[in-house]
Amino acid sequence: MEPQPEPDHAGNTLTQSPQFLQALLAASVDMLTVSDRTGRITYASPATERVSGYTVAEFMDRHPFETIHPDDRPACEAAFARLLVTPGLSVTVQHRIQHKHGSWRWLEGTFTSLFDDPVVGGLVATLHDITTRKQMEDQVRRTEAEVRLITDSVPCLISYVDQAERYQFVNAGYEAWFQRPRDQFVGCRVQDVVGAAYPVIMPYVRRALAGEHVTFEDTLHYPDTPRTVLVQYVPDRDARGAVRGFYALVTDITDRKQTEDALADAYAAEQVARAAAEAALQTRDHFLSIASHELRTPLAALTGYTHLLRTGLAHGKGGMERIADIIQRQAQRLTTLIDQLLDVSRLQQGQFALVCHPVDLVVLVAQVVEETRVTLPEATPHRIDIYTPDTPVMIAGDASRLEQVILNLLSNAVKYSTRGGPISIRVVPTATDVVVEVEDQGIGIPQDAHTRLFEQFYRARNGEAQASGLGLGLYIAGEIVHRHGGRIEVESTEGAGSTFRVVLPLLV
Ligand code: ADP
Repeated sequence: MEPQPEPDHAGNTLTQSPQFLQALLAASVDMLTVSDRTGRITYASPATERVSGYTVAEFMDRHPFETIHPDDRPACEAAFARLLVTPGLSVTVQHRIQHKHGSWRWLEGTFTSLFDDPVVGGLVATLHDITTRKQMEDQVRRTEAEVRLITDSVPCLISYVDQAERYQFVNAGYEAWFQRPRDQFVGCRVQDVVGAAYPVIMPYVRRALAGEHVTFEDTLHYPDTPRTVLVQYVPDRDARGAVRGFYALVTDITDRKQTEDALADAYAAEQVARAAAEAALQTRDHFLSIASHELRTPLAALTGYTHLLRTGLAHGKGGMERIADIIQRQAQRLTTLIDQLLDVSRLQQGQFALVCHPVDLVVLVAQVVEETRVTLPEATPHRIDIYTPDTPVMIAGDASRLEQVILNLLSNAVKYSTRGGPISIRVVPTATDVVVEVEDQGIGIPQDAHTRLFEQFYRARNGEAQASGLGLGLYIAGEIVHRHGGRIEVESTEGAGSTFRVVLPLLV
């Protein structure tokens, strides 16, 4: 029976037995070697074979530096040189050795100089295989490089912000935008980096850190110049679902916005131009149909009645006079129509000049009423009542153009009072203005037509049926009044007469 080791004073007999240490070394995944001052291996633990592929005997046969990767050899030799001269020194070196099968294994070796130790008498090396860890580190490095390459090539700002609102990662976009190297961002608070933009983005940052996927668009001062940005915050959660930060993606959409706005403006302008062109076409067509009809009617009358005179079919002096009256009225109507067309053309070409002098409206109105009375049709005689002050009412104006305005209002009152009701005209001075009011009890004007009466060629539907006309008189009257610094208004109820008011500034 083998003699059992005696327990020591602490009772650890087993742990100090050679068998125990052998078993321990055999079980260790780490390799343990002892070498002499020449570097020759004097002891190699059983793990040698697992780590290097060589048996202990084969490994001890080789000089250890032979198996070390040529790139790592200088560092190992330098460490060895220091260990030789520094008793007790312990050095850790990462290096590669070539496995028996040819592949390279990464080892982390801790070398302790125990040359002077009476028991060990050599350099003790514990060598831990870190090949897998190195491969993982390499993989992480490669992945990081790829992430950086990808995020740097995207025309956006990409960052990672942690729960403490500090940047942990920024891409090249940040460097360009904030004009400083990216390592100056890492660890910095968002607030300190974005400055004036922080109050705007803060609520979104808080929502992202509370776990919400946030998207918003805003114009931010980043750092000084205003830029319109589209921002997305994507929360990042750990394995338990707790939010540990968020990814921020900021896209500068200023140029896109400007282009969109310019496109929208161009589209709106195009729509306006198109509508104007269509309206112009409609106006032209409308004008052509009205003008040809309106001009043809008096011409037909002139031709017809002239024929009557020529053929002597007009009997007696009375008949001749009646026909002469009709011819004169139709000629007058033609002249009025042509004058209106010429006025419109002058207005459109900017050649409608006023020649202004002091004008007494009392006198002017009396003259126009007189002219109108003379031309009233015999069949439907209208009473025209005139109310003017006894003293002159002076304004600065173009007498013939103002006469044209009042004549137009009076002839409309006659024209659209088909049953011959009374017409009144008033001149009422106020503190700064004078109001000329023409009132009739004729057909009136439908409410929806009031705002359009002063447009070119506009005729109210009830008026069209009652009397001929080009729909230009009120347009021209309006233009004349505006050019005198005044305004023209209408008050009317369909079927219950109309009142037109011209307000002009008094001469001061
Ligand atoms: P015109 O009489 O040649 O049609 P105006 O420009 O003078 O052209 O008048 C425009 C339209 O306003 C007329 O067609 C008519 O429908 C309406 N109107 C003008 N004055 C009166 C009025 N006193 N009573 C009723 N309708 C009127």
